[in-house]
Order: sequence, then C-alpha cells, then structure tokens
Amino acid sequence: MSVIQDTIARVKQVDREQVEFHQAVTEVLETLEPTAKRHPELVKAGIFERIVEPERTVIFRVPWVDDKGVVQVNRGFRVQFNNAIGPFKGGIRFHPSVNLSIMKFLGFEQTFKNALTTLPMGGAKGGADFDPKGKSEAEIMRFCQAFILELYRHLGPETDVPAGDIGVGGREIGYMYGFYKKIQNAHDGVLTGKGIEFGGSLIRPEATGYGTVYFAAEMMATRGLDFKNKVVAVSGSGNVAQYAVEKVIQMGGRVITVCDSNATIVDERGIDTDKCCFIMDLKNNRRGRIKEYAEEYKCACFEGENVWEVIRKQGIKVDIALPCATQNELDTENAQALVKNGCRCVAEGSNMPSTPGAVRVFQENNILYGPGKASNAGGVATSGLEMSQNSLKMSWSREEVDSKLLTIMKSIHRACLESAEAYGKKGDYVVGANTAGFMKVARAMLAYGIV
Ligand code: NDP
Repeated sequence: MSVIQDTIARVKQVDREQVEFHQAVTEVLETLEPTAKRHPELVKAGIFERIVEPERTVIFRVPWVDDKGVVQVNRGFRVQFNNAIGPFKGGIRFHPSVNLSIMKFLGFEQTFKNALTTLPMGGAKGGADFDPKGKSEAEIMRFCQAFILELYRHLGPETDVPAGDIGVGGREIGYMYGFYKKIQNAHDGVLTGKGIEFGGSLIRPEATGYGTVYFAAEMMATRGLDFKNKVVAVSGSGNVAQYAVEKVIQMGGRVITVCDSNATIVDERGIDTDKCCFIMDLKNNRRGRIKEYAEEYKCACFEGENVWEVIRKQGIKVDIALPCATQNELDTENAQALVKNGCRCVAEGSNMPSTPGAVRVFQENNILYGPGKASNAGGVATSGLEMSQNSLKMSWSREEVDSKLLTIMKSIHRACLESAEAYGKKGDYVVGANTAGFMKVARAMLAYGIV
C-alpha cells in the first residue's frame, strides 16, 4: 500500500468513531498520491503521518449556572492542529453537535485553508456542545465567560488566535474577549471578529460571504460567465449566508433561497436589499426563525427540509449554488438534481457541505466546483488582516480591507488553478487547493526537522 492509503487506514483504525475526520482526511490525502510520488523527501520525513495528527488537543469542562440557578455542564474543545506556518488560528463553534470528530475535521481543513490565504497562520478549531438557541442574553454571557476561563491559558497572540463559527458571532466574541482581557490584563487582540471599537476589522463580518462570492465569480470568469441575472441558491441564514446574499445582490444575481435548521424559504421574486436587511435583523437581533421571512413576504416555506432537498423535490432551476450552512448538507441525490436543473457553479461558503458523492457528481458533470477550503478562506484571511492591524495598532478603511480581500481571493483562485495544472488536473479546484495548501505546510514541517 502507498503511504497515503496506509495513513488513511491508520486514521480510520486509531480514531474509529471520528467519521467526519475520516472524510476530511480521505478527501485531502487521496488527491496527494502524485505529490507523495514526486516528493520522496516528504515520505521519508513522515510528513503524511504527522500532518493528520494534531499538535495538541484540549478537552475541558465548562460549568455555568443558568437563569434558574441550576448548574449546567458542557464539554469544551480546542484542537491545535498545525502551527508550522504561523500561530494556531481557527474558529470556535457552539452547537449541540460539536464533538471531537467535528473539531478535528475542521482543524485539519483549516490548516490547508490558512496556508492558501498566503498569510502566516496555522490551523486550529474549537467549540462546545452548547446550544445557544433559546438561551437568555445573561446565559450566553455566563457561558462565554466560563468557556474562556479555561481556554485562555492555551491562547496568545503568537500562540493561538480563535475566531467565530456556527453559533459564535460578534456578541459571543465580545463576551469572550472582554473576559479574556480582564483575566489576562492584556489587550492583545487574541480573538478575531472583534467589535470595531475594540480592535476589530472593517469587513470581517462580511468577509466569508463576500469572499465566497468573489471566488465563485473568479471561477465563472474562466468560462466567460458572471452573476448578472443568474438564479442563485444560498443555504443557511447566518453570518456567511447573509453576506453571500448581500454580495450576490450587488453583483446582479437573484438569490431565491435561504434556510435555517427548521425550514427553507423560496422567494422566486428574489431577496432584495430590504429583504436581506430583514434577514439580518431577524437572525442577528431578534434571533427569530426563517419561517418569519415567509410570513412577512408571502413566499413558499418548507419546514423540515434544507435548501437542496427543496430544490430537488420542487424541481427548482438554479444557475449557481452557494452552500453556507453546515457540513454534509448537500448529498449525492441533491447534487444530481442541481446538475439536472441547470446548475453550473457551486462555491462552498460552509466547511465540507458537499458529501464525497456530491463532489463526484459535480466533477463528473464538469460543474465549476470550489471546495470550502479555497472558496470560504476569505473569512480567515480577513481575520489575518485583523491580526495585522492589531499588531500595527492601526485600522484600515473598509475599501482597503475589501480590496485586500478581493486580491487574496483572486490569488487563492490562481494558486488552485496553477497547482492543479502542475499535477495534470487542469481546472480541478479540489486537487489545486489540496496540493497548494499541503505543499506550503509540508515544506515548513520539513525545514523544522522532526519536532
Ligand atoms: P451561523 O451560526 O452564523 O449560521 C449557521 C446557519 O446555518 C444558521 O442559519 C443555521 O440555522 C444553519 N444551519 C446549521 N445547521 C444546519 C442544518 N443541519 N440544516 C440546515 N441549516 C443549518 O454560522 P456561520 O454562518 O458562521 O457558519 C456557517 C458555515 O460556514 C459553517 O460550516 C462554518 O464552519 C463555515 N465558515 C464560517 C466562517 C465564518 O467566518 N463565520 C469562516 C469559514 C467557514 P439555525 O440558526 O437554525 O441553527
């Protein structure tokens, strides 16, 4: 067996239950067979075996008291995956599904994504199996404080710099950074996604969604296509989805779907700027459910089904698909329906939203397919820009950050195409992203010797 197959087999054997982690490792390593053949020095140095093992994993108790005075306990995680090219960096997720497998898959992916941004950031991920839904403001604050009370000792501006993810937005980052600052007595910017008044960067909230759309536009330009008058399906209605919708509107596309974990809305007239503001207020301030959109704007609402199921079952035609909700949201059957209904481009705003079967469908049908580690890298790239501004004790204008984000997305797109071509897989963004991200990390690991 090759080192690649050996490594995949070992991960599956050692971390038996970690199915999401197996999926991410298999997806990346299987594209690296030619790399292993071309670079025997990497095989000799054990890079493939080492790169699938996190540098360090911390699992901790998060005790807190709810509004009724009852003691609650959650489980916290931080997987510091790889710091070969810079301090550990990656988001924090609060969601009841959080477990070690999901943390490890996200930290592994993050390592290659961060390498692609061209910025000096290692890969990490963290979170807790805490469900923010239905919690009061005071409960959210107490939970964030309890979480950071343990995690703070593993963080530092040159060590590990977390950000937001599912269930962690500006509000939670504010509570965590405020508490960190108090117990460390240091205003060192250790979390990104901060408020603009205390070290945050303009465009950071927008960056993942905007970056995904920039990446999709770059892919489409290779075939002479653009967003103008295209029908676009977006899933999710959180941070990434909201700003993907906003940017598609600016680029002249018509977004007809969004969803949350309860329902999908289909608005054939298109989500315009006012409706997008309604979604932002509904989700970020009123913390309501997406079906309220359907009640407000009298459009179709499908409870208990995600965007991709609804598109398949209703036979809805879409030109571009932007999954922006969660992992494995788009399966083989729904991918086949997308292709049948005329979809030409899929850019992933969420991490690993397409199952391996769905990815195969896109590739076999010559769909422009941008994997999350390339297409949603704009968020962490702008977090990197936030770190730079914090170090410089300066803040850049909106235009300056947005133009840097656009430049980074274009350079990631170019790096993917060049690397794919170098490995004889012209136009394959999966091979391109994996090989380009991997080689940067692998070269650094090689230089360090066995550490
Ligand atoms: P949010 O918590 O802001 O939003 C997540 C959205 O997805 C919510 O609308 C949520 O609905 C919905 N959702 C979650 N699970 C499901 C499900 N099983 N079925 C249908 N809808 C679901 O998170 P983000 O927007 O920040 O993150 C979305 C994705 O993007 C994640 O995969 C994340 O890892 C990835 N990402 C995020 C980055 C960032 O900067 N925030 C950077 C790069 C990637 P509900 O409210 O009902 O739970």
